[in-house]
Amino acid sequence: MITKNVAALALDATLHARGLRLTRQRRIILEVVRATDAHPTAALVYRRVRRRLPRVSLATVYRNLRTLAAEGVLTERADPSGVRFDGNTASHDHFTCVACGRIYDVPARADRAVRARVASRTGFEVLNHRTEFYGRCGACRRPGGRSPVTGQRRK
Ligand SMILES: [Zn+2]
Ligand SMILES: [Zn+2]
Repeated sequence: MITKNVAALALDATLHARGLRLTRQRRIILEVVRATDAHPTAALVYRRVRRRLPRVSLATVYRNLRTLAAEGVLTERADPSGVRFDGNTASHDHFTCVACGRIYDVPARADRAVRARVASRTGFEVLNHRTEFYGRCGACRRPGGRSPVTGQRRK
């Protein structure tokens, strides 16, 4: 598949440009994180990586995730549910569903008015900002649907 090869080559270039040793293990971990927009925990990444690397340990996966995050090829975020990893390194905001706990990407808005207001109230030089949205996602809003967390029917 041509598209996949191009993506793999781009990934190699990214990692080499950052001087990161491209082990097969690390590449697979990164591929797993990038293949999902679910902002997985290390445990979820580990379960998926293990399908391809049966002898890998959770500690190894976690260590590699932290290294990849430190290198900026993925991002990590501290959440009440634990540390989550995000393969989307472009600037974006997040929507957290309070019913199922899933975190969705939301396109970031370059809202200059917000920055200007904060800057004028505080005297800070505001370079960037991030917005966190909370609510119920489409699946959880559907009447009769069951919460994947509580198993209860939604009203
Ligand atoms: Zn939901
Ligand atoms: Zn994200």
